[in-house]
Amino acid sequence: MEHAGRRLCMADPMNDIESKRMGFLVSLFQASSEDFNLTQSWKDSWERHCPALYKDLPCIDSQPPGFDTRRKVWVTLNTIRTNTGKCAYSLHQWSKSESAACDCGAAEQTIQHIVTECPRRRYTGSLDDFVYATENAIKYIEELDIDI
Ligand SMILES: [Zn+2]
Repeated sequence: MEHAGRRLCMADPMNDIESKRMGFLVSLFQASSEDFNLTQSWKDSWERHCPALYKDLPCIDSQPPGFDTRRKVWVTLNTIRTNTGKCAYSLHQWSKSESAACDCGAAEQTIQHIVTECPRRRYTGSLDDFVYATENAIKYIEELDIDI
């Protein structure tokens, strides 16, 4: 029992999580007031709670390009941006498919293969189009014949 009182004073990951949760709840409460600025609140929260490892990273205070697109487009944009998503290669790795091959004949259908190499689906523009969510990138995603 003697340790119970001390435990609260020590660096405790659960206390840290609880502290962040309280900060979030305070932000929600403040959101109801008229002069609340969500962007400023986010910046303040980032400065107060950002782990030391990420201190040099800038606070993201604007929505990334494509955030205002349909959810499917938004998800696919991020799949391509991160080169991680549902494709024959990943389904095979997760034991959800017998083969990692692409229907074009390539041995592995990765996201990179689909976007840059696949003769049936490759994107002919710049990969930066996906970063900036250009009209061409969004059109490509909307016309893609597979869900990735
Ligand atoms: Zn292919």
